[in-house]
Amino acid sequence: MEIDSILCRSSVPVYKAIAQMNDIGKGVVFVVDSKGRLIRILTDGDVRRAVLVRFPLERSVADLIEDVAREPGKYASVYSAGRESIALSLSKQPIYAHIDSPVEELLALVSDRVRIIPLVDDDQVVRDYFEYKTAFHVPIAAPTFSGNELPYVMECVETNWISSQGRFVSLLEDRFAAYCGSAFGVTVANGTVALHLALEALGIGKGDEVIVPDLTFAATINAVIHAGATPVIVDVEADSWCLCPLALAKAVTERTKAVIPVHLYGQPAAMDEIMAVARKYDLYVIEDCAEAPGACYNGRKVGNLGDIGCFSFFGNKIITSGEGGFCTTSDKGLCERMRILRDHGMNPNRKYWHDVVGYNYRMTNLQAAVALAQLEQIDHFLEQRAKIEKRYESAFSSCVKLSPQRNLDNRVRVCWLVCYLLASGIDRDELLARAAGHKIDLRPFFLPLSDMPIYKDYAPGPTPVAHELSACGICLPTSLSLKADDYEYITRTIIALFDKSGGGEDDE
Ligand SMILES: *Cc1c(COP(=O)(O)O)cnc(C)c1O
Repeated sequence: MEIDSILCRSSVPVYKAIAQMNDIGKGVVFVVDSKGRLIRILTDGDVRRAVLVRFPLERSVADLIEDVAREPGKYASVYSAGRESIALSLSKQPIYAHIDSPVEELLALVSDRVRIIPLVDDDQVVRDYFEYKTAFHVPIAAPTFSGNELPYVMECVETNWISSQGRFVSLLEDRFAAYCGSAFGVTVANGTVALHLALEALGIGKGDEVIVPDLTFAATINAVIHAGATPVIVDVEADSWCLCPLALAKAVTERTKAVIPVHLYGQPAAMDEIMAVARKYDLYVIEDCAEAPGACYNGRKVGNLGDIGCFSFFGNKIITSGEGGFCTTSDKGLCERMRILRDHGMNPNRKYWHDVVGYNYRMTNLQAAVALAQLEQIDHFLEQRAKIEKRYESAFSSCVKLSPQRNLDNRVRVCWLVCYLLASGIDRDELLARAAGHKIDLRPFFLPLSDMPIYKDYAPGPTPVAHELSACGICLPTSLSLKADDYEYITRTIIALFDKSGGGEDDE
């Protein structure tokens, strides 16, 4: 919020101050003189008392302050005796702080009664304010159900089509595949089984090697292990944070059957180079698109670049169905195999006849109803997320300690979580802990898979880039439900926290 909207000149009539207070909805305005210097804080309590003593509201705020100073008892007596101290807030010097005060100092001023603190410069001119929000917690992500979610779900319930058949399942399959530019779509229960189903449909299993990046969510590698194949962990690129094509080429052996590039944090992997390696060595390419629906590489959407694209509709993803997943492909045979495996391996033309040992990986019509409503809004969601990223960018533009995710040639990334890399010397984990103290949920990047005992034997060599990124990356709250005010609070708090988190050559 603009600072001017909360400033009230002492010469204005009281009723105008009330109207202003009503507009901004913070329960206070800062009363300033003609030079913008802080005089008092006018609270809604002061206003109530003025009305109760029948102070003429067309008189000025300055007159009211004078009247309270002259006859404090009159204003105090409108309350019971025990609350006199509260009744006289307008008569007291306001609680304020210097604009350069550290957050810790501001928090020390906060109390049950004081939640908003004007910040003044050396001349006592109000430049900004600090607002403490109780019961306020900034989550890393939250879903937005602003479309047809409810009516579509209602339709499922009212028509009894709640299981894995129903119009929303087939509508979602058609429309999400079309959105990605793929010929076919297969809905599944979640993103992890989407990956597993893709591997199974490609016939990948025991004795086969599948190359995965070290920096990703564990579901990518788990799916390979569950397929019975051997994952091979390789490093990522410093600019895209995604699977490194050179590392891929080096890791290929006789047994390599597939590669799973992950479009990490909304950034498409280097698909031209990855596809060239895949073609050379005859590898299948399964794209893990869980974090990047809508992202483009050379004008083509992710999920439509390799053999199969796998998506997740988990609650924190760009579009969600609670739990849910999706496979895209333009190969009719692969689509049919995935559909059969998804449905217990049953022969589609002969009920209860099973040709393969399949799974139940189906999505329900209820989930598809939510996902379809979300898909209808995906362009709006991506636009809003890009705006959130811009907000952070402009707030952090002069902050040398933070570098944003990069925009790379031929790629249009999407914003899943706003990501930044911290300059060296900053204690990332301390920063996260301090932010948590201010009720802001920052997240570290994924940990390198190769650091975990259960996966470490799958890494044939060191992965320095993944380690470096993982150690200094943070994800910021990225949620359509947060307001401009909230983002201001987040960015202001984070910038203030840098002074406390070590490093920062310019502080020394
Ligand atoms: C979320 C995610 C998955 C798994 O999706 P689920 O729907 O949670 O099973 C897989 N890979 C990546 C990169 C993800 O971010």
